[in-house]
Amino acid sequence: MAKRTIQIAVPVTGDDEWHALREPLATGWITQGPKVTAFETRFADIHHVDHALAVTSCTTGLHLILAALGIGPGDEVIVPAFTWVSTANVVLYCGATPVFVDVDKETHNISVAAVKEAVTERTKAVMAVHLFGLCADIDGLRAVLPSEVKIIEDAACAAGAHYKGRMAGGLGDAAAFSFHPRKSITTGEGGMVTTNDPALADVMNKMRNHGAEISEEQRHHGPRPYILPDFNLLGFNYRMTDMQGAVGLVQIEKLKNLITERQKWARYYRAGLADLPWLSLPVDAGEDHHALQAFVTRIDESQAPYSRNDIMDKLMAQGIATRPGTHAVHMLGYYAERFQFAPNDFPNAKYADQQSMAIPLHNKMSQDDFDYIIDALHAL
Ligand SMILES: *Cc1c(COP(=O)(O)O)cnc(C)c1O
Repeated sequence: MAKRTIQIAVPVTGDDEWHALREPLATGWITQGPKVTAFETRFADIHHVDHALAVTSCTTGLHLILAALGIGPGDEVIVPAFTWVSTANVVLYCGATPVFVDVDKETHNISVAAVKEAVTERTKAVMAVHLFGLCADIDGLRAVLPSEVKIIEDAACAAGAHYKGRMAGGLGDAAAFSFHPRKSITTGEGGMVTTNDPALADVMNKMRNHGAEISEEQRHHGPRPYILPDFNLLGFNYRMTDMQGAVGLVQIEKLKNLITERQKWARYYRAGLADLPWLSLPVDAGEDHHALQAFVTRIDESQAPYSRNDIMDKLMAQGIATRPGTHAVHMLGYYAERFQFAPNDFPNAKYADQQSMAIPLHNKMSQDDFDYIIDALHAL
């Protein structure tokens, strides 16, 4: 086959998103307004949650949740060691202490046994990361956690994911999703927090808007738009723009089909790659549970023809983009230095950091693209 260029991820955006931008730009209401509200309502419906609040990213969403829960200095939050760095950073933003635990070697998700060991009297919350779109074992976590410890879903990769028939976003006390272009649906940058707790939703709603008692939209459309609201909480500016809201409203309608299509191609990969003894495929959790934000394999270097990095190099030379699944946060310079971690403190996270390899899986790939990648892996 002739050489191809296959990216690791490509968002599915086009004319519909382009047209959606017209209305906010034409009316001039371009910050959080009616489009954001409509996007929130639709997102909440699809994820079967009572409250969805749009924010500027999953990272700011996670920070908002922790801040609204009142988590601060002296508090501990349990975080898996293999995740995107911001899952841990937000704990530090609050002045609280991230307590790292190892992940499961097969699922790459937080280890319930390790969480059980790590709980102390100071534990306030656990970051249940649904890595690459596979939900963490929420029931397992709930069973080992004292009832007052909150479960926060880092659902950055998990829009549309299911767990035992329940949707991500309503599995714990609160959740945050990402709309970065690497995730299932995108608004450029952007995020959504969800919860079924009305009091928490109310506090988060105010805190994302500088702590104001009412939103700008409410104020502008109210009887006295010239009176500024009260500010009774320390808040942030984590508001999504209405341009992003308009794009999100188009994207959310695509979500189900995007996931179904990726599940189909994940099965194609499984069939095509099952005979490579050195390549572990992502756990098959019954594909309808998995949002498949990425297709993350692992390379067993004791059997593989080359090291993981050399394989990534050889694939890149053939136009195939790959990436490590994500990183081991305890091995990143800032964390290693600040907390004096050694790489082997969390061996499964270290292994995943060094041996994982996401191969392209996105909704702009053709069957020829998948065949090209499957052939290239066999040719190694
Ligand atoms: C992408 C990602 C984030 C960060 O999302 P942003 O919207 O870019 O802030 C956080 N956690 C996980 C697990 C992610 O994959």
